[in-house]
Amino acid sequence: MPWNDKYECMPVKQIQQFQVEKLQETVQWVIKRVPFYKQKFKEAGVKATDIKGIEDVAKLPFTEKNDLRDNYPFGLCAVPLKEVVRIHASSGTTGKPITGPYTADDLAQWTECMVRNFYAAGVRPEHVVQNAYGHGLFTGGLGFHQGATALGCTVVPTSAGLTERQITLMQDFGAQVLCCTPSYALTIAERAEELKVDIKSLPLSIGIFGAEPWTVGMREEIEARMGIKAMEAYGLTELGGPGVGFDCEAQSGIHINEDHYLAEVVDPVTLEPVPLGEKGELIFTSLQRRAMPMIRYRTKDITRLYREKCVCGRTFVKMDKIFGRTDDMLIISGVNVFPSQIESLLLDIEEVTPQYRLVVRKKGYLDQLVVQVEGKPEVYEAGDRKKFEVEAKIMAHIRGHMGISVEANLVDPKFIARSEGKALRVVDERPKQFR
Ligand code: ADP
Ligand code: ZN
Repeated sequence: MPWNDKYECMPVKQIQQFQVEKLQETVQWVIKRVPFYKQKFKEAGVKATDIKGIEDVAKLPFTEKNDLRDNYPFGLCAVPLKEVVRIHASSGTTGKPITGPYTADDLAQWTECMVRNFYAAGVRPEHVVQNAYGHGLFTGGLGFHQGATALGCTVVPTSAGLTERQITLMQDFGAQVLCCTPSYALTIAERAEELKVDIKSLPLSIGIFGAEPWTVGMREEIEARMGIKAMEAYGLTELGGPGVGFDCEAQSGIHINEDHYLAEVVDPVTLEPVPLGEKGELIFTSLQRRAMPMIRYRTKDITRLYREKCVCGRTFVKMDKIFGRTDDMLIISGVNVFPSQIESLLLDIEEVTPQYRLVVRKKGYLDQLVVQVEGKPEVYEAGDRKKFEVEAKIMAHIRGHMGISVEANLVDPKFIARSEGKALRVVDERPKQFR
């Protein structure tokens, strides 16, 4: 059962008609109020009246992260600051932060999108929700806080970090729901195991994880270690934070809140739209936001969109788990490599843990990829020979599936820094001119 079936279950034709109307409004709104968009639309020779059908979105120019940086902090803001009730900023994973201002209406919409996310994950008003996303400028903490509060849950705003305290509070308050990044969930699971706290025997039954790429293998690992259902949350600061999309009980794709976000996938090189079902770069246009609407924002996230009849009854388009960010894509021996591909292959190997990172180095003219991963305790106990055997197994597995030669390194236990937020997966040690 969806939270707002009027929109969440609207027939596709009808929702697309709704999107066209909201898109026209948004285009008019930004042309009138944001000189940056007025100029860009003029250069592209496109007017609000050119938007007649949903496919006409492709006539609009793209917006990129650099446009937000160049117009920092309020150049893209479409309302005077006195109408802004909140300002968030991105965590700056890939550079200078960008701003995310909200009007009171923007905040209310965001909250509803988050309520939908919680509800779809199986969360109900009687649940205790431990919110371990970082609270502050990062949209995760407050976004989840607002959603759970509006749904009527009992919210415990632990924020990220102080892992032992997270575990103690989880025991004391009996949270059924944990919200954090998947990598932090793993850190919590590991610490609990070390402390001999059995999370499986606690009331915890649902996790809502997002803010970084994670594979299905990682989801299964977390589900098994915590004895929970690990659900998905997707979003980005530029579009207002989490609440852009979420998965439902089918756990077979992320429904996008289509009454608020128009999603497209384009070829990341030609920027031409690709047909439904094909992989490419995800593009979003906000449809109802007023403080800082986004027109065709290039997320740099790689995925595909598809429509299918979902058991949950929602008609919203689905997207696959994010395959990776184009920023994190490596080219090794001419092959495009995303950290998520390595992650899923590592999860196939029973002797290793999911604690890993990828180091890129220059070896002569070639780029060399070193996969650093921690083994399970038994491997270290068995001595060096076992260690070499596991390293060889990893290298052969990656070569077999991806056709690339990597160096695998079984690093000492706890060598990989434990994540409390977004995990650092790629360390680029190449000289600057080669990156
Ligand atoms: P930053 O770009 O600084 O990381 P954000 O905190 O706004 O800023 O993060 C948004 C990005 O986080 C998305 O573009 C995407 O790459 C990643 N992300 C968010 N949710 C998910 C998810 N469920 N799966 C994969 N990646 C995600
Ligand atoms: Zn569904």
